[in-house]
Amino acid sequence: MHELSLACSLIEEAEKVLEAENAARVIRITLGIGKLSGVEIDAFEFAFPMAAKGSRLEEAALVINDLPIHVRCKVCEKESNPDFPHCICAVCGSDDIELLGGREFNIESMEIE
Ligand SMILES: [Zn+2]
Repeated sequence: MHELSLACSLIEEAEKVLEAENAARVIRITLGIGKLSGVEIDAFEFAFPMAAKGSRLEEAALVINDLPIHVRCKVCEKESNPDFPHCICAVCGSDDIELLGGREFNIESMEIE
């Protein structure tokens, strides 16, 4: 399961932060997951507690921000958020776009103690 290995590497990353901050545990962790990241949010929410078991994130509340596809159009120069899975300008329909967001998979914030 792809999401389980993602959750494991995320916990490793969070543990490094805890180490650096000399903190005992994570109370809340907020993630940004883009629509184009390929991560299934439901599957990730299911995998996270398994990966967190025995770690300092075992009790952590998991908050996921589902980030939209964000493009800038090279034709009309507008920025828009087209509906998944279409990577086109939501204003004029052009596919000549620059992808600004939607592939994220990162820790946005962590509440630690
Ligand atoms: Zn456009």
